[in-house]
Amino acid sequence: MTGLVDVLVVGAGPTGLALAAQLAAHGVRPRLIDRSLDRVHESRALAIQPRTLEVLARFGVTDRLVADGNSAVRLHMHVRKRVLTLPMFDLGLHDTAYPYLLFLSQAETERILEEHVRTSGVTVERGVELVDLRTTADQVTCRLRHRDGREETVGARYVIGCDGAHSAVRRAAEIAFEGSSYPQTFVLADVEADSLATGTAHVFLSEAGILFFFPLGRPASWRLLVMRPPADPTPPDAAVTLDRVQALTDGYTGGTVRLHDPVWMTNFRLHHRAAAHYRAGRVLLAGDAAHIHSPAGAQGMNTGIQDAVNLGWKMAHALHGGAAAGLLDTYELERAPIGRMVLRFTDRAFTIATSTNPLIRFARTRPHPAGRPSPDRPCVRLSHRRRARRPVPAQPTVSARAAFATARTQGRRPAARRARDARRATHDTAPGHRRAGLASPAVRSASGLGGRRPGRAAAPGP
Ligand SMILES: Cc1cc2nc3c(=O)[nH]c(=O)nc-3n(C[C@H](O)[C@H](O)[C@H](O)COP(=O)(O)OP(=O)(O)OC[C@H]3O[C@@H](n4cnc5c(N)ncnc54)[C@H](O)[C@@H]3O)c2cc1C
Repeated sequence: MTGLVDVLVVGAGPTGLALAAQLAAHGVRPRLIDRSLDRVHESRALAIQPRTLEVLARFGVTDRLVADGNSAVRLHMHVRKRVLTLPMFDLGLHDTAYPYLLFLSQAETERILEEHVRTSGVTVERGVELVDLRTTADQVTCRLRHRDGREETVGARYVIGCDGAHSAVRRAAEIAFEGSSYPQTFVLADVEADSLATGTAHVFLSEAGILFFFPLGRPASWRLLVMRPPADPTPPDAAVTLDRVQALTDGYTGGTVRLHDPVWMTNFRLHHRAAAHYRAGRVLLAGDAAHIHSPAGAQGMNTGIQDAVNLGWKMAHALHGGAAAGLLDTYELERAPIGRMVLRFTDRAFTIATSTNPLIRFARTRPHPAGRPSPDRPCVRLSHRRRARRPVPAQPTVSARAAFATARTQGRRPAARRARDARRATHDTAPGHRRAGLASPAVRSASGLGGRRPGRAAAPGP
């Protein structure tokens, strides 16, 4: 046994890095291990939600993310030879400093987070894999394997599994991962593409399915995501070739877009699953280890980072001994409903986007009349509180609803309510500390910040 650490964080993806940043901000230096020798260089998640930018601002990394990303992306919707132009997600989020979806490749997000974590005094130990763990009442004994084959046994007061969809921590803690896989298969490619308008995302809708081009910048100009037609006989594990991706793309674009210089191409199947629990004694889960779903609405990485920020300060208080015994339990209480909401939302959006039901296929390629291009036509509800309407050109109803649902699943709260909570705040608002007024009643109660306010439901959030 090499010693006892306070926290062992397994996995240095976006979730593990955000968790390390939050722990460090609260005076806890975790041991952070990752079995990979290098961080991921493929794009994977490519959009950061406003709430994620807000929660990362306390670490001072948001300005760097914004500087490197693209916040002015619009969406060109190509449907039946027409093009509708939509402002992406600019749907009335007036209570945030970041009222947009920031496009930035996950590789860049991880790079910026990792640099911040390093300057906070936490080292990412690469080439170290958690093989197994055993829990007792007062610690978790972990077996680690180093890249050179050396094995190490380490004790930890807490272990947090940020080790992704196939989490070894979740498996060792015997936490079920409930859900299933979607039958559809996708191809994902980071490529160059000729004849596409730049500075905008493109979606091509057809009765057969859906194709996206997202502006990436790095490592390639475009991220392509295309659904294979339902009758496509290609086995899901067949090698992806540029010719094949071009043929799939032609099926949606009519041959108007030429692809070249691929950086990364992969087959892609989607699943929707959630951990039965986020905590089993001294073992906790966050990010993809706790929930996986379709990328509809760009939520996976965002939800993981917000899990981490929620858990980090609670873990620090639990370790410092200043928190009531129930504080750590509020992590699951707050974040599991968010995880379930994201799963429900992404499942609904995915079903609409990919359904073979003739009615849905028909509706998919015929935007709602309210969405037809008409700059003066009021067609989008901007606030579910005020029911305000404002002229926004060409907003298909489905997209507007999806965007609202996206904002809601990311744990944001209406401006008026946040202002009221801020007035009621009893705790400090210094950088690195949460505002007590934004904490749910369960957290306020467990952390000794004030009892449950009668008549108010718990408001989950990071
Ligand atoms: C092809 C693809 C496309 C995607 N597109 C999008 C998108 O458009 N939008 C979006 O929001 N999300 C997308 N996602 C999902 C997004 O990438 C994940 O939600 C996000 O990476 C989750 O972060 P994480 O840190 O929880 O897990 P991960 O990023 O999976 O990181 C887990 C880390 O744990 C390490 N690890 C695993 N096991 C061990 C072990 N036993 N010991 C030590 N280390 C271990 C791994 O090496 C890895 O670094 C996509 C995912 C894939 C695969």
